[in-house]
Amino acid sequence: MAVILKKVGTLEYLVAEGIETPHCFTTRLGGVSTGIFDSLNLNFSRGDDPANVVENYRRIGAVLGFTPEDVVNARQIHSDIVVRVDKENRGKLAVAGASPECDALITKEPGMALFASTADCTPILLWDSATGAVGAVHAGWRGTASAIGAKAVAAMTREFGTKPEDVRAAIGPNIGFCHFETDADVPQAMLEAFGQEVKPFIRQQNDKFYVNLKEINALILRRAGVRHIEISDCCTMCQPDRFWSHRVTRGQRGAQGGIIVCKEVRR
Ligand SMILES: [Zn+2]
Repeated sequence: MAVILKKVGTLEYLVAEGIETPHCFTTRLGGVSTGIFDSLNLNFSRGDDPANVVENYRRIGAVLGFTPEDVVNARQIHSDIVVRVDKENRGKLAVAGASPECDALITKEPGMALFASTADCTPILLWDSATGAVGAVHAGWRGTASAIGAKAVAAMTREFGTKPEDVRAAIGPNIGFCHFETDADVPQAMLEAFGQEVKPFIRQQNDKFYVNLKEINALILRRAGVRHIEISDCCTMCQPDRFWSHRVTRGQRGAQGGIIVCKEVRR
């Protein structure tokens, strides 16, 4: 099973074949925003017209089956904080200051949609095939080093009784191994956090390093007991026309991300 590209009209998005609840990783394509936000910007905090951002959510929601009122996003702070959201979080998407401050959202409330905003960072979507609970994770390199993906799975276990072996995970477009150039601090943090097993995911070139955040996040999820993991092969820096890259745009940008909708599971 793989993460594959879908096109509906002008919208382009990626879905993980093994996740059987509505979800996607968005691209820049198919929205109404203009300029540096051209066009499917889903982030309210970077200067775009909020009405355009809401319309962008409406467009992707029309395809996946949710409305902007169903969506909860986070005020992301490069933390390892996981927040459970419920019905009372509905309808506050575009309300300034109403989003929880965290980097991972989980819910088991049918009809709610969770969004993790990214540009080079790693979006991770989680679906519990037994209970229908879902999670959306923003893993920057600091969040990765603090194993936020595993913390989100643990929070789903604590809050909803999720068994990790029932979880299907998808890791979305981020700055790839080809382009994520760092100083020594990033590989050091990964080796300290996860040991020698991350060595294949670090490459040194002269005095710089390259780090494979997709594979390190997959390792973190496997160690948390997740068996089903699908990984997008897209790099945000390799495809600047399809994805926003924080590095390519020097921060003058909108944001794509991962969205997942909670549905009741009937067996
Ligand atoms: Zn690349």
